[in-house]
Amino acid sequence: MSDADELQVLNPATEEVVATVPAASEQDVAAAVARAVRAQTGWAALAPADRARLLRRFADTVDAHTEELARLEVREAGHTLGNARWEAGNARDLLHYAAGGAERLLGRQIPVPGGWDVTFQEPLGVVGVIAPWNFPIPIAAWGSFPALAAGNAVVLKPAETTPLTALRLAELALAAGLPEHLFQVLPGHGHIAGRALVDHPDVAKIVFTGSTRTGREVMERCARLVKPVTLELGGKSPNVVFADADLRTALDPFSFLDNSGQDCCARTRILVQETVLDEARAFLADALAAVVVGDPADEKTQMGPLISAAQRDRVRSYVPDGAPALRGSAPDGPGFWFPPTVLTGERHDSPAAREEIFGPVAVLLPFTDEQDAIRLANDTPYGLSGSVWTRDLGRALRVSQAVRAGNLSVNSHSSVRYWTPFGGYRQSGLGRELGPDALTAFTETKNVFISTEGPAQ
Ligand code: NDP
Repeated sequence: MSDADELQVLNPATEEVVATVPAASEQDVAAAVARAVRAQTGWAALAPADRARLLRRFADTVDAHTEELARLEVREAGHTLGNARWEAGNARDLLHYAAGGAERLLGRQIPVPGGWDVTFQEPLGVVGVIAPWNFPIPIAAWGSFPALAAGNAVVLKPAETTPLTALRLAELALAAGLPEHLFQVLPGHGHIAGRALVDHPDVAKIVFTGSTRTGREVMERCARLVKPVTLELGGKSPNVVFADADLRTALDPFSFLDNSGQDCCARTRILVQETVLDEARAFLADALAAVVVGDPADEKTQMGPLISAAQRDRVRSYVPDGAPALRGSAPDGPGFWFPPTVLTGERHDSPAAREEIFGPVAVLLPFTDEQDAIRLANDTPYGLSGSVWTRDLGRALRVSQAVRAGNLSVNSHSSVRYWTPFGGYRQSGLGRELGPDALTAFTETKNVFISTEGPAQ
């Protein structure tokens, strides 16, 4: 996209213009932060039960608009309708969960001589959230809602390709009675609005989700101001399938095709024990051929388009013509389509096996035994997610302890629940979102010692 001060939102399934929205300038960001500073003061002064009540009302308002939000997500991001409904519901559920946290933001009492020692979890102030385009509703929610519940104001910059659901969430917050300017959404370009948010001295923390490359820049800029940052970055997650596993569930192609593979948790390295490699290849060939790719607004569709022409070109660069691969099909004509693909001729150190492709493309690689599986699973700069499939409980435990990743599933491909922690090791990120400690990440801990000896005479 150009640096023009308008963003054109395209429907990735048709390439038609869905909407045009203004792009925030540096001055717009500064003005929004100043408004947020004022709004936060009043919000933090409310009783926790009152904050909780307003957030529950916000949840109910989102609930009443889940279908509208889901349909908007389908149009601006090309998500299948089923996925988009789950995403809107996830935002609602997280609001309820975070609302409960507002009243449970507990400090501690620590035994000390000569007095009492207590800790308080105080809000940071204004939190800046920078969201990507792959899950516009959930990622906006994960960064913003726990921060609000902990007493902060939020300024959210959505991805320039997908600002519409975030803008609608901000309208719903106001309709639910949240104070004006407490939750502001500023669509804009990353290198202008995103950077301005990161560099603003009154933004107390940045929550960034996106590529490792941009995350590294955000962290460097935050370091200049000693600003805390949560980073949710890329992944190249392994799906470790032992020969004794149920191959049909272990090799579910939606472990890497969900959201057209534009998922940081996608299990894009399919590691299969060599004794069942032929069986796995045959199963995957049939499974890919059966995937229904097409209009994401059709209830029967299982996989939609990629987000943009640029993303499709990027994905295509990993799949040269004639590369050994199993392939499904994709529509011709307008839209940013790419077929489900499993590359079968890669080495574990080739770019397609090491780099985040962020499309419906996985690599199939054999391993010999448990040690080899662990070595390959860990041979990556990333460490976000992964699955281990075996009927041997001891092995499942050993492998899940040995694999260095923040979110592992045994005999399952699930990764995300709003009430369990989510985040990555190594270059997959820093810090955790969601789960029981989600609000604490948006607080400072204050320690207060109260002398029982009385004032000095
Ligand atoms: P980016 O990391 O560049 O974008 C993520 C968000 O950061 C967007 O809102 C973007 O704005 C913003 N941004 C960009 N540059 C800056 C900056 N200098 N300072 C502050 N904010 C900035 O991802 P891309 O959209 O370029 O995607 C490229 C690749 O990144 C994908 O192919 C995929 O591999 C990976 N990715 C990973 C994600 C994950 O969940 N782990 C999510 C998205 C992408 P803008 O939209 O204007 O660029």
